[in-house]
Amino acid sequence: KEAVDNHFVDAGFLRGRLPQRGKFSHKGTFGHALLLAGSYGKMGAAVLAARACLHGGVGLLTVRGPAVGYDILQISAPEAMVLADPGREFVTELPALQPYAAVGMGPGLGQEAATAEVLRNLLQSGSKLPLVLDADALNLLAAHRALLELLPPNSLLTPHPKEFERLIGEPARDDYHRLEQLRDFCARHRCYCVLKGAYTALGTPEGPVYFNSTGNPGMASGGSGDVLTGLLLALRADKRLSPLDAALLGIYAHGRAGDLAAAETGQAGLTASDLIRYIGPALQELT
Ligand code: AMP
Ligand code: MG
Repeated sequence: KEAVDNHFVDAGFLRGRLPQRGKFSHKGTFGHALLLAGSYGKMGAAVLAARACLHGGVGLLTVRGPAVGYDILQISAPEAMVLADPGREFVTELPALQPYAAVGMGPGLGQEAATAEVLRNLLQSGSKLPLVLDADALNLLAAHRALLELLPPNSLLTPHPKEFERLIGEPARDDYHRLEQLRDFCARHRCYCVLKGAYTALGTPEGPVYFNSTGNPGMASGGSGDVLTGLLLALRADKRLSPLDAALLGIYAHGRAGDLAAAETGQAGLTASDLIRYIGPALQELT
């Protein structure tokens, strides 16, 4: 095997990669994101991702959730617009993509057949929009493997190890084998893939793997990943950032928000909602 160029991502590595907000910028400058998330009993995942996206600096956010989630989203994320799906308990239709700068899909979605069709339509839309796929969007990709061949280049996938194993279709023998699987997967699908955990690894279409330095075991609780999805969606909607910089900044700031929050709450007391409160301070450190 040829030598690969890997990197350790700390504050020094990211210096200068997050642009300032210009004096004359307006909400159009930072992009309009679309988030497809939530189903009956899992609207919390959609709320966390939406709120994280808003705190990540997005210009505008529209959330597509099931009809039962309408009030929940409007009340919990008043800065977001809600485009309720005709489906009552899960998402069944892809909205028109023309207004958007990036699309995120997955948190709390469920794995209904109609939702798999929404994913197929998104992948086949030909829109060239940056995509962030997480959670049930990844489980749907694994369950309907032909969809994997439709992934647009530069898509960003954020599996935890179990979701990654489903995507690959076989368990890793050990951590080294998993990294090899990550590199192969990113090369084959020309995508960026965030393998989440302690020292989260970002695989890239070009080959190098980036290891994140921030985060703590307080983040090992429900909802942490949904926050990452929302934050990454905000950064992918910002046209000033390359796909690589958006991914690196998002992973680092998410972990850093966890470290700042844990200093206040302790690791056991840390919740995904606490992470969201510290996204702003974590990004601030990088400017
Ligand atoms: P999910 O499993 O989708 O909720 O994602 C969990 C999130 O929390 C990912 O961003 C992980 O990187 C992060 N996380 C979980 N456990 C740890 C840990 N022990 N150290 C650092 N980050 C963690
Ligand atoms: Mg998750």
